[in-house]
Amino acid sequence: MTATAPITQDVLTIPRKAPEGAKNLVGMTRDQMREALIEAGTAEKQAKMRLNQVWQWIYHWGVTDFDVMTNLSKDYRKLLSDNFVIERPELVTKLVSEDGTRKYLVRIAGGHEVEIVYIPEEGRGTLCVSSQVGCTLTCSFCHTGTQKLVRNLTAAEIVGQVMLARDDLGEWPEPGTGTGEDGPRLLSNIVLMGMGEPLYNFENVRDAMKVCMDGEGIALGRRRITLSTSGVVPEIARTAEEIGCLLAVSFHATTDEVRDKLVPVNKKWNIEQLLAALREYPKATNSERITFEYVMLEGVNDTFEDAHRLVKLLEGIPAKVNLIPFNEWPGAPYKRSSNNRIRAFATILMEAGYASPIRTPRGEDIMAACGQLKSATERERKSRAQIAAEAGL
Ligand code: SAH
Ligand code: SF4
Repeated sequence: MTATAPITQDVLTIPRKAPEGAKNLVGMTRDQMREALIEAGTAEKQAKMRLNQVWQWIYHWGVTDFDVMTNLSKDYRKLLSDNFVIERPELVTKLVSEDGTRKYLVRIAGGHEVEIVYIPEEGRGTLCVSSQVGCTLTCSFCHTGTQKLVRNLTAAEIVGQVMLARDDLGEWPEPGTGTGEDGPRLLSNIVLMGMGEPLYNFENVRDAMKVCMDGEGIALGRRRITLSTSGVVPEIARTAEEIGCLLAVSFHATTDEVRDKLVPVNKKWNIEQLLAALREYPKATNSERITFEYVMLEGVNDTFEDAHRLVKLLEGIPAKVNLIPFNEWPGAPYKRSSNNRIRAFATILMEAGYASPIRTPRGEDIMAACGQLKSATERERKSRAQIAAEAGL
């Protein structure tokens, strides 16, 4: 395969249908919302002010009901409620792990389901957001990759995940009681590390993250957002330019032979092409290092030679390495490397000057750990043999 192969997969983005044609205001960019307000009858002269007011109600105060927008006249509130809704995806189930991790299963248009994970940590809380239903990329160690049905999420469905988590955490400020910005935030970081390949759904992910970064609303700084890609090379530079967030790469192997099996997109853009794109990532500096994710699979990618090769490959890239002990799922064709092996691997990286934390799996008891996400409705399992065959094992 060549780098000129089409990069946008043939997956549909189906906007959620609101009742009686009313449009969902959630997920619109500022420009889109301004236009929508004008189209619904807002006077052009007032559009900027109205946009600011409505935006604040939705994204700063988190309200879902036009009636509580008390700085708007009754008539204008009626105009809004006749034309629009403020909707999040529908919460189906919520599971809370022994370690405090929360997993939400939500339903979106078409009856599809996606999972979102909230991971509380000392002084911060990270929301792991999905960008697609399933994933077309079939990485052989990833549960999501075994899901057959795939569709892109709309910007509304991506922003909606953040809003739904803030609803559940009770994190919207109470009108009249200040802004709630003085304490540590419960939801302080977003990682695009849920289901799907975010760079195969670039525009929707970009628009959604812009909404989350907007200072008049959810207001998460760009450095609080990390986008993880399996290596969609042509979209990497655009990520820096158009989103400006931090970047993580699912690297997972040190030779093309092994990476072709683990992360099949490597057949389209190999290690050399990927590293060249990362060297050029304009945001990569020592304070904004690129995270290399490396899943530890026993006997597959965890040798000392691998560790030394990895060090060589990283040369010249401000990087840190997240070592992820493999999380098992039913029928998975791999085993987790031993703790000793993972520690020895980490030591080699650290001695070469790379921070290389070993991730503690979070929420394993509720199948919320990395790579375990898969919509319940799509959980028709492939057999172990089928997965192994597809992985070329
Ligand atoms: N599709 C994007 C975003 C998913 S991020 C990507 O692949 O980068 C989720 C991270 O968990 C990725 O690095 C992924 O490779 C890793 N992962 C997938 N399955 C895993 C598993 N079973 N155990 C540990 N990590 C896994
Ligand atoms: Fe898709 Fe990422 Fe899973 Fe690969 S690791 S199948 S790219 S979600």
